Amino acid sequence: VPSSAELLDIGDRHVTKGLGRLVKGIMKKGEGSYVFMEDGRRLLDFTCGIGVANLGHCHPKISKAAADQCMSIVHAQCSIAFHEPYLRLIQKLLPIMPHPSLDSFFFWNSGSEAVEAALKMARTFTGRQNIIAMQGAYHGRTYGAMAVTKSKTIYSQGTMPLMPGVFTTPFPYWHHYNVHPSTPTSELTRDALYQLDLLLSQQTHPKDTAAILIEPVIGEGGYVPAPAEYLQGIRAICDKHGIMLIIDEVQSGFGRTAGSGFFAIQDAGVRPDILVIAKGLANGFPLSGVVTQKQWTDKLLPGSMGGTYAGNAVSCAAACAVADAMLEERTLENVRARSPQLVSFLNGVKAKYPEFILDVRGKGLMIAMEFASPTVSKHDVARNEKAPEKVAAKITAKCLEKGMLLLTTSVYETIRFIPPLNITETDLQKGCEIFEAAVEEVLG
Ligand code: PMP
Repeated sequence: VPSSAELLDIGDRHVTKGLGRLVKGIMKKGEGSYVFMEDGRRLLDFTCGIGVANLGHCHPKISKAAADQCMSIVHAQCSIAFHEPYLRLIQKLLPIMPHPSLDSFFFWNSGSEAVEAALKMARTFTGRQNIIAMQGAYHGRTYGAMAVTKSKTIYSQGTMPLMPGVFTTPFPYWHHYNVHPSTPTSELTRDALYQLDLLLSQQTHPKDTAAILIEPVIGEGGYVPAPAEYLQGIRAICDKHGIMLIIDEVQSGFGRTAGSGFFAIQDAGVRPDILVIAKGLANGFPLSGVVTQKQWTDKLLPGSMGGTYAGNAVSCAAACAVADAMLEERTLENVRARSPQLVSFLNGVKAKYPEFILDVRGKGLMIAMEFASPTVSKHDVARNEKAPEKVAAKITAKCLEKGMLLLTTSVYETIRFIPPLNITETDLQKGCEIFEAAVEEVLG
């Protein structure tokens, strides 16, 4: 048996440097809100593997459902025959969809692939080519998904040209307008809708525009909720011009934001034409989905959609268990209770460091804190010059030293908090205290 040192050496020498990595070492085990490293470290996980293990690591009912499925059939290829978990999963998802019109499902493996499928469907359904994406959006690292990703250049640097026919519109967020964080959202929303209208009259004619693609809470772009009026405004533009509205809830879905339902878009009362789901759907088993209307998918040519592992039986069985567990354990109610606990703690930290902390924002348990930065935030240069460089990375590194996993997000100095949705009050408090101590060491 190779030693951990030998294995880590293989990692250093033979794993592509293109992968970034937060923690040095080997992750051995996960249990609930904690992960355990080979070297004995026990880490409180406020990342959930980037918003995936929403019901905690190795949830017994989910692991058992997957293990049981392994003993009957693992790979019942979806283009060869249906398997039972595929169909059972649809039965469980239908009642929690954000709109009853969403009645046609296609499962794939990753969020990026599901985004690709959504783009392909929108073009096929409308017979149009162009796609409008949001400034700050993240949709994945495959070629179509990279083309609609606008959050960091690192994802596509040196790999152009990407998929053509993509246009970018500003998301109603103060950074994009270089105004003060206290600027009323209604002003930004009005301007963002105006910019979208201009785009449709100056750059891409509505009759050439297949879809507008948006995350209801921008994820990798900084955990910024889209104002309800903005989403409603986009819906109205889509209705007026026959443009498809694609809602990407890969990160915000499945109870992560726990407003009126399982999906963030529900809070705006807006109907998606195409919904993209992944991450929390199967709590860590690779599974994504595209949900849209049967009246449109009935026109797709059989064989035009598919994928070797698409809708894997073990992943679908796990996803069925996720849906059951979330209802049985009243997960959404826990999110609704823990969210104000987290937000009020973070606002307390913000009040202690008003010169360094710009913003606490988000929804449910998809919360971010943004710090002033001498290089990124431009609206208040004199103040920001006092801020340390790379403050978010410094704080997350301190948290790691103190036994907690925490991630940054976006090109801004932003830290995101995505603990498991079923985290206890005590563990959430513990995480908050570790974070506060780390902030004190970096800023105090
Ligand atoms: N869309 C959104 C909103 C995401 O957050 C992500 C992943 N962070 C993706 C798409 C891509 O998903 P995947 O990494 O599974 O390809």
